[in-house]
Amino acid sequence: MEQTIHWADVVAKEALTKGDTHIVATGITPSGNIHIGNMREVVTADAVYRALIDNGGKADLIYIADTFDPLRKVYPFLDESYQEHVGKPLSEIPCPCSEHSNYAQHFLEPFFHSLDKLDIHPRVILADELYKEGAFIDAIKTALIKRDEIANIIETVSSRTIDPEWSPFNPICSNCGRLTTTKVTGFDTNSQTVDYTCLCGSTGTVSMQGGGKLTWRVDWPARWPILGVTIEPFGKDHASAGGSYDTGKRISDEIYHYQAPHPIIYEWIMLKGKGAMSSSTGVTISISDMLKIVPPEVLRYLIIRSKPEKHIEFDPGLPLLNLIDEYDNLSDDPDESQNIRGYQLSQTKADESAKIPFKHMVTAIQIADHSFDYLMTVLQRGGYDVTDMENIRQRADNAQNWLTTFAPPMVKFTISKDLPPETRNFTTQQREALRILSGKMSEYKDAQAVHDGIYSLAREMDISPKKMFTTIYQSILGTKSGPRVGYFLVSMDRDFIVERFKEASSHT
Ligand SMILES: [Zn+2]
Ligand SMILES: [Zn+2]
Repeated sequence: MEQTIHWADVVAKEALTKGDTHIVATGITPSGNIHIGNMREVVTADAVYRALIDNGGKADLIYIADTFDPLRKVYPFLDESYQEHVGKPLSEIPCPCSEHSNYAQHFLEPFFHSLDKLDIHPRVILADELYKEGAFIDAIKTALIKRDEIANIIETVSSRTIDPEWSPFNPICSNCGRLTTTKVTGFDTNSQTVDYTCLCGSTGTVSMQGGGKLTWRVDWPARWPILGVTIEPFGKDHASAGGSYDTGKRISDEIYHYQAPHPIIYEWIMLKGKGAMSSSTGVTISISDMLKIVPPEVLRYLIIRSKPEKHIEFDPGLPLLNLIDEYDNLSDDPDESQNIRGYQLSQTKADESAKIPFKHMVTAIQIADHSFDYLMTVLQRGGYDVTDMENIRQRADNAQNWLTTFAPPMVKFTISKDLPPETRNFTTQQREALRILSGKMSEYKDAQAVHDGIYSLAREMDISPKKMFTTIYQSILGTKSGPRVGYFLVSMDRDFIVERFKEASSHT
């Protein structure tokens, strides 16, 4: 089959025709848990960054945290006491747990930890620091001087009506700390100050160095030349006609004389049955929670295998298990795969993980009754190399967490300590099958042999394979279904199985 070029390489190759050095920017407003929906942006940016380098370019990946944005409202996860902080910059608000330096850091810290696991290592830029260092002073002066031109661009492009008192700059009131309640009444480019009045009743003068910030539609294009951004992924909300990219592009061209970055517009990740994920609707799974369940390279693969413009439906139930298998199979045989490039771009440093199929791990953990020590024995019985304890533990933790959070009931089981009562109702034929099987168990060397042995016994006895399986599951679990029988039986203690089959064959 003909190999199509991966979307990240398409973007990289196109960008490299314009220049060989690129700055790929990504970022977010850390107003709440940074969830898997947001992760699409940063993984998309990282894939392009890697593709630029793989295609012979020079590139830098930067992550801009919009820490100087105001808190919009008291989100459902916040205490009512946050009412007094609405309108203040996130960097100036206390953190909800009192263990971080501010509100923004509270949400950024676990996110950066997750990025590290995902093998994404951007240069982090905090917007509040940029403003406080004075990096925006010239951009603020230009915006204030060209206020009317900017207002005209926004009105023309977005069909919004701009208030006569609108200013591209929002001073932070030195009395109440808010930047959403102030109005600019004057400015002085020599002293680099802005005068304001505030709804709280106070008036004052702030410095252009950290005394306020540009409004979003101006802030975004203003940062492009400051940081030298050439490529930037963003969600389709910013990409709508008349949206902030459209106005930003013109403001960048006409006000700041800088070519807007190459856009990569991405679609949402939908959580199956719950709709689009967003931190304001509460439909979220944080990335750190997700990494407790999904191996990081698989989380990357979820995003990288789809083109950015395709929406991703993410089902953390059984389909997640299939996704992990799909990735594992690619890694077993990447040469055979159509999607080798998606696999390469998804790899993380820790990717040389124990190649124990996730489905087997889910079964093994339950056989081991959730004990890690016993799990090692179970895995060895299944023929796996268990020397890489750290990676096995990581994968075992993923599987265990998946079992307790998203696993459907059909994959869960418990080995019955006592002979299940269902075995009393076994037919003579079922009992005979178990009796024969108990004698043959010691002959089977591995899962495949067990599987083949059961099929040939079924044929000899003229009993359906399904009936054989049901008989086995009922003897061990007391249920009609269970995990794939070959691996299941081979992973358990052989003496226990032999004894159980004997008991079940004579249970009255
Ligand atoms: Zn905190
Ligand atoms: Zn005020």
